[in-house]
Amino acid sequence: MTAAYLERLNPDQRRAVEYGVGTASPGPLLVVAGAGSGKTNTIAHRVAHLLVNGADPDRILLMTFSRRAASDLTRRAEAICRQAMGERAGILAAGLPWAGTFHAIGVRLLHDYAEQIGLPPDFSIHDREDSADLMNLVRDDLGYSRLERRFPTKATCLEIYSRVVNGSAALADVLQEAFPWCASWESELRTLYAAYVDAKQAQGVLDFDDLLLYWARMQAEPGLAAGISARFDHVLVDEYQDTNRLQASILLTMKPDGRGLTVVGDDAQSIYGFRAATVRNILDFPAAFDPPAEIVTLDRNYRSTKPILDAANAVIGLAKERFTKNLWTDRAGTQRPELVTVRDDMEQARFVATQVLENREAGATLKQQAVLFRTASHSAVLEVELTRRRIPFVKFGGLKFLDSAHVKDVLALLRFAQNPRDLVAGFRVMLLVPGAGPATARRALAAMSTADDPVGALAAFPTPPRIGGEWQGFVALLTALRGRGTAWPAELDILRQWYEPILERQHDDASTRLADLLQLQGIAAGYPSRERFLTELTLDPPAATSDESGVPSLDNDYLILSTIHSAKGQEWRSVFLLNAVDGCMPSDLGTGTSADIEEERRLLYVAMTRAKDSLHLVLPQRFYMHAQHAKGDRHVYASRTRFIPREILDHFDYVSWPGSRNAAPAARTAAAPRIDLAAQMRGMWR
Ligand code: ATP
Ligand code: MG
Repeated sequence: MTAAYLERLNPDQRRAVEYGVGTASPGPLLVVAGAGSGKTNTIAHRVAHLLVNGADPDRILLMTFSRRAASDLTRRAEAICRQAMGERAGILAAGLPWAGTFHAIGVRLLHDYAEQIGLPPDFSIHDREDSADLMNLVRDDLGYSRLERRFPTKATCLEIYSRVVNGSAALADVLQEAFPWCASWESELRTLYAAYVDAKQAQGVLDFDDLLLYWARMQAEPGLAAGISARFDHVLVDEYQDTNRLQASILLTMKPDGRGLTVVGDDAQSIYGFRAATVRNILDFPAAFDPPAEIVTLDRNYRSTKPILDAANAVIGLAKERFTKNLWTDRAGTQRPELVTVRDDMEQARFVATQVLENREAGATLKQQAVLFRTASHSAVLEVELTRRRIPFVKFGGLKFLDSAHVKDVLALLRFAQNPRDLVAGFRVMLLVPGAGPATARRALAAMSTADDPVGALAAFPTPPRIGGEWQGFVALLTALRGRGTAWPAELDILRQWYEPILERQHDDASTRLADLLQLQGIAAGYPSRERFLTELTLDPPAATSDESGVPSLDNDYLILSTIHSAKGQEWRSVFLLNAVDGCMPSDLGTGTSADIEEERRLLYVAMTRAKDSLHLVLPQRFYMHAQHAKGDRHVYASRTRFIPREILDHFDYVSWPGSRNAAPAARTAAAPRIDLAAQMRGMWR
């Protein structure tokens, strides 16, 4: 008898789900198909099918682009299993598959092997902003910020570095292809990056790129690679089009013959080229193995109505290069996607809010609707309008909550307690000590960096008399946070006692900021340890900008606001896209090369294909460009995005808004070789 869950699938999906399951180790499998064709659904069913057929959950590794997507996927697989096996689902008692982003899985493995590869066990992780700050410190130390000719900014330095690492590319090539105006700095950049790597190692910090780089290097060491690869019988990756070369090389070294490897993706949705992701990973996958990978394509879309799918197909049909074919759907629908012209962003906000409420009257909950935009800042006016009309919302993408200074202060304090050699965190928190300035902080950190006992050195550090008492209070706090007696998350109370008076002295709105800290404490309580809390928040911060009532609890109804990048893989009954105008889509920032333009086109395709029943693209005739896009803030007159040219306009309804005037660690033997990855990392730049 065929399991009921298999019967829900179409023949192609079913072939992908069943491929090789039941054999000792199935050959490599690639599922490549357009949006809404059930790729994620297929991967969830495949995991379930593996489990039902006796695979050990602890030996399955699932990777995708966000923590949320990973936990959704596991939940779906688990539900299918339970349904299929009823109470027999006892096999799941063995645990759930390993699931997460490449970076998060990297952290888990690095913790397991830290000792063996010469990493301090309490290493801390820098997010992009911390990394840029450290890059800046190193740049200053080398004197590059005081040169006559302007040296690239810290952000540019980091971006170049990151492209080299993630693209497994040569510095000279990256400079020539993507940063020609920095090419004359090649030798200084090389020196900078060598010093940056040294600084990270001296401080026991890893940046995001290191998480992949160290993992890839571990995979290149036969002694380690065998152990890591042997932990997993099955490795499955969703959204493979958005992986970079380093990630692909990790997979290929984990499973050189491809056995047990399944990857799933859609080249038409590749939108992370700016982070060195490449669709070549998908295209090259089949031939990377001998015999080559099995390829399954899916051509039926289950998500969108025909008018929406036709419009999305028309947009992506103009792409210069594409491999997956157009999809079909049998979901009829009468409503064509609408291009709505409004006067400006105020009117755009009013239109969206009004339409969202109308949809709710017509039966769509707020949660079944989403507003998408190119850049996090584009929703600012809408957020004000929604708040005014008391329409609750949650925003994914730009993370204002974690970005606020006081929340960052607290996280830096925790990070410094975790790893007192972390200069960026240390610098930030020392400036909080009343009376302490940058000079004091710099000297104290220098004293700590050479000491065996950094906190002892901090206590002994001779501060000017005016800050003496405050300094000792700070040392006492750190000592308490590091002490064994303090349990997680109770240490946050100790921390708040120290920080509250400082906050009150510094800010008029201390009470709102304190409320944020309590909210942070609530989030922290959901994590088993400080280390896990810091890691997960750094790697994949939770959505946290919402209306004034804080993050709505799960049973409340709220509208979703999201950048297109964060909307990947999801679907809603009704979707609104803000600022579908040239200058926003494509963004002015993205108009560099034709490859950038193509990526922006795919971004529009991703946005449109999130909609099930209704889709509105809003075109303000005038919109406000923020300083980050233009030279100073200014209003510009905008026209419809070039991705919807005249020849495909008849896929849309063109309307004017009436208000508008114009209308577990592997066993290790004691004798395992110690491998000095640190030296390898330093060697990269020399
Ligand atoms: P994306 O490219 O956007 O990530 P996807 O290919 O991963 O999309 P899914 O999210 O898995 O697509 O599926 C899209 C929708 O289609 C979901 O609502 C899913 O439940 C539904 N679906 C998928 N396969 C089937 C099927 N065989 N029968 C009915 N509904 C299906
Ligand atoms: Mg998907």
